[in-house]
Amino acid sequence: MKIIAVGRNYVEHIKELNNEQPEDPVIFTKPETAILRNNDPFYYPDFSTDVHFEVEILIRINRAGKNIEEKFAHKYYDEIGIGIDFTARDLQSKLKAKGLPWDLAKGFNGSAPISAFVPKSQFPDLQNLNFQLDLNGETRQQGNTSLMLFKIDYLISFVSRYFLLQQGDIIFTGTPKGVGPVQVGDVLTASIEGQKMLECSVK
Ligand code: MG
Repeated sequence: MKIIAVGRNYVEHIKELNNEQPEDPVIFTKPETAILRNNDPFYYPDFSTDVHFEVEILIRINRAGKNIEEKFAHKYYDEIGIGIDFTARDLQSKLKAKGLPWDLAKGFNGSAPISAFVPKSQFPDLQNLNFQLDLNGETRQQGNTSLMLFKIDYLISFVSRYFLLQQGDIIFTGTPKGVGPVQVGDVLTASIEGQKMLECSVK
């Protein structure tokens, strides 16, 4: 399986990092080894002193497809979840300044804690979902999927022009505003529509 992630998909987050609003989705990948499941702890890496949380809605692909038309994209996923796109912001900033790929800053071990997945049918409208991240019990990010620049079905259509999507692939759909640093000892929790789905301790 692979992890495909979308950068700069919420306007307020683009502004907080002083980035340009993209014409096309900004896509990057993380290796499978980035995944943390079952609320496993995150071990703070020694190459960064500025690891940020980014809470994101996840889509799990349920069958293979390429060149998927946007109008058929909904047939390619049944389940959603929530995850954290941990980012070594100091390393990413260095790489960005040199025009180099972000892979090391985004794809390191444990950089993708994910929740269990739940049927999308539980939610009346996937493009109007509230989700949030709490840090040590204090809400730090609150998003709604209606604010995505590029909607889920468009993202699937776009990505499938380049990558064969396969069953089990996970798409991180971008983070809303409010990203910030974590420290050893922090506990992060992520929820969809008020229901806690993911907890991650920083060790
Ligand atoms: Mg992200």
